[in-house]
Amino acid sequence: MMEIPFLDLRTQYLEIEEEIKTAVMHVLNSGWYILGKECDNFESAFKEYLIGDEEGYVIAVNSGTDALKLSLLAAGVEPGDEVITVANTAIPTVTAICSIGAVPVFCDVDPYTWLIDPKLVCKHITKRTKALIPVHLYGVVCDIDSLMDIAESNGLTIIEDIAQATGSEYHGKKCGTLAQFGAFSFYPSKNLGAFGDGGAIFVKSSKDRDKIRMLRNYGQSSRYKADLMRGENSRLDEIQAAILSVKLNHLNIWNSKRQELATYFKTRLDEKGLPIKVQQVNLGTSAVTHLFVIKTEFIFRDFIQKKLQENGIQTLVHYPIPLYEQSSFSKYKTTINPIAEDLCNSVLSLPFHQYMTEKEIDYIVDSLLSIYTESLII
Ligand SMILES: *Cc1c(COP(=O)(O)O)cnc(C)c1O
Repeated sequence: MMEIPFLDLRTQYLEIEEEIKTAVMHVLNSGWYILGKECDNFESAFKEYLIGDEEGYVIAVNSGTDALKLSLLAAGVEPGDEVITVANTAIPTVTAICSIGAVPVFCDVDPYTWLIDPKLVCKHITKRTKALIPVHLYGVVCDIDSLMDIAESNGLTIIEDIAQATGSEYHGKKCGTLAQFGAFSFYPSKNLGAFGDGGAIFVKSSKDRDKIRMLRNYGQSSRYKADLMRGENSRLDEIQAAILSVKLNHLNIWNSKRQELATYFKTRLDEKGLPIKVQQVNLGTSAVTHLFVIKTEFIFRDFIQKKLQENGIQTLVHYPIPLYEQSSFSKYKTTINPIAEDLCNSVLSLPFHQYMTEKEIDYIVDSLLSIYTESLII
């Protein structure tokens, strides 16, 4: 039997150990730990990675949750305003909305891409709707053009939740730069992950940049000058910034390795004729596969999960409960999303990272095959 953990962050560290140690020691020796050169360097390197020398700005913050929250604040979303998003996303998407007193409104997803369905958005728009948060779930890219059309004709701000899809592209442009705001997360397990918390916001205008710079630093425009009442402490520290600058140089290689492995995984599942669905990708987009998620059919997901565990394969469920069924968000259950609900009951995230071997993938596929044959499904 093989033991296959869900994730392996240590191997990534070991691959770049020397570079990381040098970068961290450099910060420790510098005597400057918050909002210094490392943060500036990372912000400009990441901006360059995203859009080259086109106009735009990156402001590094403390987490992906804060990236969403400060974007909402900068967009002028106020308590009681409605923000449309999906129910099959990570909790923080909605935590961010609620933390500023705004109201999440849940729109169902497309049955093939599992992402917000632009055809359904309009029916949720009211006089109070201010913003739309499409989530590029599992690294797959939303149909942004359709959403931009809707946003434009209804005066809404779009904030891309790009936490799971750093490096993904839409018609050759990096996602997270397509709308007014892009909210990135550098949580350790993300495709570009820090060794602690971190996040960033991409904005197009220098006005939004200046506002977010104030918001992340107590509402100050400069030292001892409080210009915004609603400030936060949400800064990316120098150690994490230095680490992220090192890792950014490896991101393209890691992301393409992920794509190769995801393709291999899908081909193997196909070959075995397993009645398992995978997420479909929108035309003209290139995904980065943050998680490798299957949708189980005919056999209960929880049973498959248990059987895989018995075979030494660790899996997770992203996400088991539609967010409006969570006790803390239940008062926002104003819509029913049958597709998202079905996904919550049937998705299963298989082990996936850029250091997996084809042998491990074969073992996972073979284990799935024996679960299905033993259950006499195929
Ligand atoms: C990880 C994640 C976040 C939050 O990021 P943190 O850095 O952990 O605050 C938000 N949205 C989605 C979809 C995520 O996966």
